[in-house]
Amino acid sequence: MSSALLIRNLSQIATPIGRAGLRGAAMRKIAVHEKSVIVVRDGRIDYVGPERRTDFPIPEDFDAKRGTAVPGFVDSHTHLPWAGFRESEFNRRLQGESYEEIAASDGGIASTVRATRAATEQQLVDNVLQRAQTMSRHGTTTAEAKSGYGLNVVDEIKQLRAIRAANENSPVRLVPTCLAAHDFPPESRGTAYVDQIVDEILPAVSREKLAVFCDAFVERSAFSREQGERVLRAGLALGLRPRLHADEFSDSDGAALAATLEAASADHLMHISEKGIAALAKSNTVANLLPATSFFLMSQRYAPARALIDAGAIVSLSTDCNPGSSMTESMSMVMQLATLQMKMTVEESLTAATLNGAASLGLAYETGSIEAGKRADIVLLDAPNYLHLVYHFGVNLVRDVFRDGTIVARSR
Ligand SMILES: [Zn+2]
Repeated sequence: MSSALLIRNLSQIATPIGRAGLRGAAMRKIAVHEKSVIVVRDGRIDYVGPERRTDFPIPEDFDAKRGTAVPGFVDSHTHLPWAGFRESEFNRRLQGESYEEIAASDGGIASTVRATRAATEQQLVDNVLQRAQTMSRHGTTTAEAKSGYGLNVVDEIKQLRAIRAANENSPVRLVPTCLAAHDFPPESRGTAYVDQIVDEILPAVSREKLAVFCDAFVERSAFSREQGERVLRAGLALGLRPRLHADEFSDSDGAALAATLEAASADHLMHISEKGIAALAKSNTVANLLPATSFFLMSQRYAPARALIDAGAIVSLSTDCNPGSSMTESMSMVMQLATLQMKMTVEESLTAATLNGAASLGLAYETGSIEAGKRADIVLLDAPNYLHLVYHFGVNLVRDVFRDGTIVARSR
């Protein structure tokens, strides 16, 4: 049966336009519709523009109460299926220890690995769903979710199965990534674990079709450039497109590697080199920036968003939601940091948090903008215009969230 919905009484509709990632100056060119309506039919956007007499009756009428519509946020980098929190480690950081020092003393990722291995698949499903509900209440309609706290065949598969099971009931559309190359497990610090990823974990993930992407953490404290490349090429051979944690704590030549492999994204990039910026600007690899991680790690160092955009790269924004280095589900918080700390414009931030994130997930033709033909993933803000997303900081302006044309979250 066909269903239709007319969203009216909108103060404004603000959206990037396109079915692919936008680069450079095009990121600033968002469409702003005043005195307009959105018609949703069978879960897709049918019409955006001035209210007009329609040829057919529209059964449902939704009063937006002078709110502003923006596309549902696309959070293209999260570590959702984890167990255990790290608030005491956070408190140690507040007293002066660094993230890398804590990781070296058996804290950090290793402590989340212990807790996640001890959890059942169902506990991980529940955790993912709880986080997805929080994300949804903050306007996210699509999110990538990575494994990477199992670090062996059984527990990586358990995390990915949890994402798949959660996706059945999740208000947020989840896109799974295998990040077996997140860190070395405590029992195997060396080539033997890289062999295990390539020979056992990735083939098992591929057999069960548990992931769309394969990710690796290339960093002086994790995997070398050569090890990362080996893992990502093995994933590619199994049909898993690469993403890459690159140049986070040091320049590891990760951005150039991502461009060479035609990766979907190169993520973090706080220490990207000039050469890396030039490589991404020339490529279709999305530069995925995660300013909440710099903020939460109390680093003065943010990714060079301005240089990347001005060079012509496709830039997206994500939360990096994880218990150690970025404990937040809020994309509006990320947009606030992107503008106030990385000097992106509000328009660039909106494009980065929606369409360009969708592009990095291979979904730009389906979501990430409010345009006829796309899935009706729409956020209604309790605000007179889109500038309030950044201007009115530290509060949640999200009022109603539509995913595929259905309300999945209502905040007030
Ligand atoms: Zn990450």
